[in-house]
Order: sequence, then structure tokens, then C-alpha cells
Amino acid sequence: MANRLAVILHDDWEIRGNGLGNVAHLQYIPALTLMGLAREAGIPLTFMVELGQQLAFQRFSDKDPNLGIQARLWEETVQLMWSNGCDVQPHIHPQWFGSSYVDGYIHMDGSLNIATYGDAARREMLSECFECLRAVLRGVDSTYRITSFKAGAHALQPSHGILNDLKEQGVGLVMGPRLGLKAINPAFSVDYRHMEESTLPYCPDFDDVTRIGPDRGIAILPMSYWDVDPVGKWHLIRRRLSPRRLACGHVDRLSYHRNVPRSILERNPRADYSEGPLTRKLLKPYRAGLNLSGPQSFAELKHILDRTVARLSRLDCETVPLVIESHSKDHEGNWDNLAAFLRYLADRYGDRAEFLTVSQFLANIRSNPGMIRQLAPGDVQRTQTDRAGAPLDRVFPALVHCRRWWHASHVTGRVHP
Ligand SMILES: [Zn+2]
Repeated sequence: MANRLAVILHDDWEIRGNGLGNVAHLQYIPALTLMGLAREAGIPLTFMVELGQQLAFQRFSDKDPNLGIQARLWEETVQLMWSNGCDVQPHIHPQWFGSSYVDGYIHMDGSLNIATYGDAARREMLSECFECLRAVLRGVDSTYRITSFKAGAHALQPSHGILNDLKEQGVGLVMGPRLGLKAINPAFSVDYRHMEESTLPYCPDFDDVTRIGPDRGIAILPMSYWDVDPVGKWHLIRRRLSPRRLACGHVDRLSYHRNVPRSILERNPRADYSEGPLTRKLLKPYRAGLNLSGPQSFAELKHILDRTVARLSRLDCETVPLVIESHSKDHEGNWDNLAAFLRYLADRYGDRAEFLTVSQFLANIRSNPGMIRQLAPGDVQRTQTDRAGAPLDRVFPALVHCRRWWHASHVTGRVHP
């Protein structure tokens, strides 16, 4: 008999990672539409709301009242999500911290990876962001709690500091790592090619988020993935050549009354953590996330879902998570396909699926700890012994890090704070 699916549909709710975009256009209207479609399909929805942007807009609102208006719209939309029964949890892109507002534009130069910031800076970011979200939602529900966190750009390496901080903030579930994701360049570095658990929730080793550790109160929920096949590659080519994608830069510029500075247009955070150029994706095998983003046709969305579920169905366990990631800022012009996808998800898999918010999923696994993979107390020593016996495993990453740091500081002139 097929295993059960715990389906978690969540939306990374944000404007562009280079600071472009308007809350009304890229967040408010898409959130209304997505909430409507999810409600029609009977699927609960979680918004992972990006908070660095909101704090920056508040900070710059005395320089530009327009940003204050957008910050208030952001706040009321987040309250509306909660009032509509959606789960709302934090998501952070740290490059917003340290950004500046010059001549009508937000300029950024910080690292995309929150885990690379110093202890004090990282903790301050987390506590400011979490306090902001709590204050907004306790305005409509005094019992609101932060339960979960999604890392911006999937980045949680080096792991020790950030996982400790999240534990201290009371976070129980962390999302971000996905098997196969690897991006190493001067601006950014994650490497999830080797994960001890790629699908089920697991307790992380705080020194290395890709390894299973003992229970310290936090579980990692890996992002769902699929192995891209020739049909998937055909869809990729079709999407890359679609008129809507080619017009995407133009759409972003509509929010501005004059030409956007080239330095901002050229800053493309997604390129920093993408899995390589199109030619490489077409020629080599690669994995991709179950990601609703961009001008995907219904046929493509259905194919990605079916392939992912087919892989999960082969796993020998009673219930498996199916984590579906959405970026509603990218759905403009594609809502019909999204609506068809959500209806298909509910109709095709509804009888073997439980649809859950992120917080509901956390409550489920906490009430059934057998669902969380973890090291038993007796296994802790074995892991430590393994490491002690393999010094090159520790030395080699340190050398790579040194080389990256040198490259970042000497070749590009950028050093992570
Ligand atoms: Zn994001």
C-alpha cells in the first residue's frame, strides 16, 4: 500500500533579493490570490515572511514616505494572512541588514548567508526580525508563537552558531537544506550534496547541519527534490525562452519612474546560489526542488509533482513529507496554471495526503517522535570517534574556506561581515 503524504505548501513571501519591487505589486496582490486559490483547493497555506526587507523599509521611511506606506501594507497583509487561517513564520535574507537608501533605491552589499555573520550581528538580526513578526501578529492574536524558520537562500552553513541561536529563540523546525544543492562562489557558499537524511525530519548535528545528531530540540525538514529527467529539461528550455521570462526585468522596472541603476540590476542573488548555467543543467544530471516559481505550465508543474511523489512512494516508511515551495512574487500572469496545479494536487493525491501548515507538521512530529530521525545517546560517541579518525574531513573544508575568504577579500574586494 502507498505511504501517506504530509503535504506542506509554503510561500516565501518577499520582494526581490536585490531590493527591487513594491509590496503592493509583488506581495499584497499575490498573497490575496494565492490565499484564494489555496482555499478553493482546500489546502492550508504557510507564509514564510521575509523580515529583513520590512525592517529596512521601516528604517528608511523617514527618507521616503513611500517606504513607510509599503511597510504598513506589509504589516496589515501579514495580519490578514493570520486572520484568514494561514500559518505565518519567519524567513530572513540578511543582505537587507547594512543596506543603504540612496537616490530612491536600496543598495545592498552584505552576504546572502546569515550563518556567515559574526555572533553578535547574527543574533541581533534574528531577535529584531522575530520581535517584529511577534509584535505584528500579537496585534491580532495574543497567543501567536514562532515555531519554525526558513533560511534565506537555503543557507545554514557553518551551522553551529545559527542553530544555537534558533534553539535559543524557541524555534522547533528549520527549513532550507535540500539534497544536491551546492553553490560555492565568492559571494555565497552552501553544500548539501551529502545529507545523511534527505527526506524525513531529523535532529541535526549542530556542527554540521547535513548530519544527524542527538535531539537538542530542533528538527530539520529537508526540502523535497526530484531528479530532473529529459521531460523536465525540455520544460526548462521552454520556460527559459518564454516571452514572460524574457520580459521579467522589464516588469520589475515598472515600479520605478526612471532607469534602475545598473549595479542593482546586475545584482542577482539567485544567480549566486543557482546550480549552474543552462547548458550544464541540460548536459548533466541534476536535482531540483519542488518549487513553484516562474512561468511554469500546468504540464510542467504536474510532471514535477508526479516525479517527486513517485520517488517518495518508493521509501519504506509510513508517512513522508512532501514540501512544496512557492514564490508568489513570480506568479504574475501564471495564476491559471497555479490554480490547476493546486486542484490536481488535491484531487490526485488527496486520499493519501494530509495537508498541513508548517506549525501543524511540527506539532505532529513532536507528538510522534518516531517520525524524527535522530542519534540515540549511545550513537553520539560513534560519530565523534568517526570524526577523530578522519582528520582530513575537517582539514579539507577549512582549506577551502580559507581559499574562499582570500578570493572574496582580494579578488572581489568583498568580505562577509
Ligand atoms: Zn526568500
